[in-house]
Amino acid sequence: MLIFETIKSLQLYLSSFLGDNKIGFVPTMGALHQGHLSLIQKSIEENDVSVVSIFVNPTQFNNQDDLLKYPKNLSKDITLLESVSCDVLFAPSADEIYKNKLESEAFVLDGLENQMEGRYRNGHFDGVGTVVKRLFEIVNPTNAYFGEKDFQQLQIIRKLVEKTELKVTIHGCEIIREADGLAMSSRNVRLNKNQRQESTVIYKTLRKVKRLFLTKSIQEITEWVSNEFSKNAEMSLEYFLIADEQTLKSINTKELNSSCRAFIAVNIGDIRLIDNINL
Ligand code: AMP
Repeated sequence: MLIFETIKSLQLYLSSFLGDNKIGFVPTMGALHQGHLSLIQKSIEENDVSVVSIFVNPTQFNNQDDLLKYPKNLSKDITLLESVSCDVLFAPSADEIYKNKLESEAFVLDGLENQMEGRYRNGHFDGVGTVVKRLFEIVNPTNAYFGEKDFQQLQIIRKLVEKTELKVTIHGCEIIREADGLAMSSRNVRLNKNQRQESTVIYKTLRKVKRLFLTKSIQEITEWVSNEFSKNAEMSLEYFLIADEQTLKSINTKELNSSCRAFIAVNIGDIRLIDNINL
């Protein structure tokens, strides 16, 4: 695998793939796990060359402590990337991406940016939009792969591409889970043994929500979820809601002919986990 730290060296290498070749791209923040690898494997299958970026983007963290504690393990990441025969790793510094202006652009994306994570993490999606747009401009990919684990982010990137007319096809990839159902996340390594055990409640709750959705009202389901979490001393529920997959607006009544999803954000100690399920 080739590793580049500068835009210039990466672009020089990628210039040999101009023409009919397809460039696949998977942006990540590192501390890689099977969830990331599933995206990378899809990219490798569908493209002539696949680029993975590892960049812990400072502007998307609304909480400095979360940024400082974000797990990092570049040598393990390189081993994992080589195990799936990834072609290129792009691991730039913050200076390389932001020059000397560590600021986000402000994005208006039909209100998608104001729901859920946008409401609870001030400036988060401006940071995400800024870095993804910048990375797309650098890599110029044919296809880019994002996980449904961050479903709101996936829809926001789709909207950003539509609005900016960037020539990249966005692919959503299914959520990869641990054997007990917990959605894989780089932050999971920060959970202690007890927290890790408790965290299984998140997906168990979502599975039950999916069953309840067939017979109960959204209000009854929402009350049941908040009651389940109130019994748990280690965890606090930040939000639970059922929303339309396209608008991401929460819905109070079941709608025919539109798909919806249940979304959840939970704090366990100082670790914040999110998950979702289609209904
Ligand atoms: P991150 O490194 O957390 O920024 O994630 C990089 C990409 O991997 C994003 O598109 C995530 O949605 C995706 N991803 C993270 N965890 C998972 C998972 N458990 N299953 C599928 N995709 C994931």
